[in-house]
Amino acid sequence: MLVAELEFKIIADTSFDQAEQGIRRYLEKLIFQGQILGREFPTYQAKDSFFSRVVLPQADALDKKSHSTAGLSALEQLQQVGLSYPKLTVLGDDLMSNHTDPCPSHSALILFCSFSATNSVLYCAEHFAPVPLYQAGRSSGEDFEPLVRWQLQYQALDEIQMQETRVLFKSAEQSVQGFYSGLNQQGYKQAKALSKELNKPVYYYLYSGSSADCATEAEKKCPCCGADWKLAQSWHGLFDFCCEPCQLISNIAFDCQP
Ligand SMILES: [Zn+2]
Ligand SMILES: [Zn+2]
Repeated sequence: MLVAELEFKIIADTSFDQAEQGIRRYLEKLIFQGQILGREFPTYQAKDSFFSRVVLPQADALDKKSHSTAGLSALEQLQQVGLSYPKLTVLGDDLMSNHTDPCPSHSALILFCSFSATNSVLYCAEHFAPVPLYQAGRSSGEDFEPLVRWQLQYQALDEIQMQETRVLFKSAEQSVQGFYSGLNQQGYKQAKALSKELNKPVYYYLYSGSSADCATEAEKKCPCCGADWKLAQSWHGLFDFCCEPCQLISNIAFDCQP
C-alpha cells in the first residue's frame, strides 16, 4: 500500500470551517469505498492549499471510476466550499501495511477481519490478500459504509479480547468467536448479501480463540447447519474448517493449537 498526499487548492473565498467540512466529507466517502485506508488523516494548511496524508491500496485508487455515487457528489461539493479537485502525489510504499491482491477479478472472496489490519476486510480467496472494496465487482454505485462500520466495531472488540488484562473478558471474546453474537450475525448477513449481489461465494471467517475442550476441538460441527466441516488440509495455513453450503470458515481454536 502507498502513502500519498492530497492537495486541495483554495480557488475561491472560503472559511477554514467550510473547507475542513468539505475535505472531511470527501475523505469519509473515500473510506466507505475502500479508496483510502486507516482512521487518521493528518490535514494541514500551507499557503493557498490544504494537504491531507492518506494511505492508498493502489496507485489508481482515487480514479473517478472507483468512486461511489456519494463519493462523486462529495468531490463536486469541494468546489462549493472554494476548493479545487484534489491533486494526488504518491510519496512511497507504506512499509507498515500488507500487499493488495493483484487479481483484476475474483471467483470467490473471503470476509476476514482482525484487530490489527486496517486494510479491506474482503480478501481474494485464491491468494488470501486484501481486495480494495471498490474492486469487489459491485456495479450499483453504492458504497460499503455498513461493512466499514462493522469492521470498526469488530476491531474494537477484537482489540479488547486480545489484551492480556482485558476489561471485558467473556463478553468481548463471545462477541468475536460466537457465531450467534450480534457482531458475527451482522458480518455474516453482509457476506451473504454481497455473495448474492456479486453472484460468487463470499466466505465468512469465524474466529476461534479458545475452546471448552481441546480434545474434541477438531470434531466440532458447523455452528450454522450442524454438518461436518473439517478440511483434510488447512486452507491458506489458517482455516481448518469450511462449510460450503453456509459459506462459513473457521480455525481450530488458537488456544488448542500446538
Ligand atoms: Zn488474488
Ligand atoms: Zn454449515
